[in-house]
Amino acid sequence: MDKDRLKEIVNNPDFIPGIYNFCDRWCERCTMTSRCATYAIDKERFPDEESMDMSNEKFWDKLSEMFKITIEMIMEDAEKRGIDLSGIDDTAIKEREDLRKSAEETELVKLSKKYSDEVEDWFKNNQDIFMDKENTLQQQIGLAVPGINAESDAADINDVVDVIRWYQYQIYVKLMRAVTGKLEGMQDEIDDMAQDYNGSAKVVLLGTDRSISAWGRMLQHFPREENNILDILVLLEKIRKQTEAFFPDARSFKRPGFDD
Ligand code: SF4
Repeated sequence: MDKDRLKEIVNNPDFIPGIYNFCDRWCERCTMTSRCATYAIDKERFPDEESMDMSNEKFWDKLSEMFKITIEMIMEDAEKRGIDLSGIDDTAIKEREDLRKSAEETELVKLSKKYSDEVEDWFKNNQDIFMDKENTLQQQIGLAVPGINAESDAADINDVVDVIRWYQYQIYVKLMRAVTGKLEGMQDEIDDMAQDYNGSAKVVLLGTDRSISAWGRMLQHFPREENNILDILVLLEKIRKQTEAFFPDARSFKRPGFDD
């Protein structure tokens, strides 16, 4: 893909501008792929399995090519807007770093980090219950036990794990973006930033809601894990409540393409 092709995709009116800024990047489950320039670019850039394989040279060649094109486009755009990128000095970088550190110190971000760590520990400590469950379900499938739909249970467990794993780190990453943006907006009194941080906070809330629902289903499959799962649910509920309190406009934020 060259620069002209990239511009052609980005300027295609079929695509919704900025739709990819406030999504959860789960393209396999996204209903808006036909309206998303990022999806179209990725499909062209990584058309086959080989090009998506990080251990394959082709993947890194493609990535490096895209990196060069993107830098060129940023430079061109900055020049058109009269922005001198060489004017971004160490002070600006230091300020950014300080904001990130302040965000990391907030209770909300700490909770989200704790959540991702606890999920990791839970899966690590419970590998045996998944193996036992798999054996039980396979036996039930073989015996065709009446009243038990083991195949559907197996599919549901897979789905629950996929959902939890998908948002496990994303909640922290998006919260960092949202909290940093809000702190920056407050510090520099920039109202325009609300659009971005409320959008990121909404993605956090959606990921948190879906994770809470997934852990509820996990509890049904593994009732003996009740205590540990309830601890995780309490943590998620705290994240949800504190995110809503810190970003009171996030729930009503209209994400382009998804909520309008
Ligand atoms: S909007 Fe949908 S298709 Fe586009 S990047 Fe986000 S999840 Fe993927």
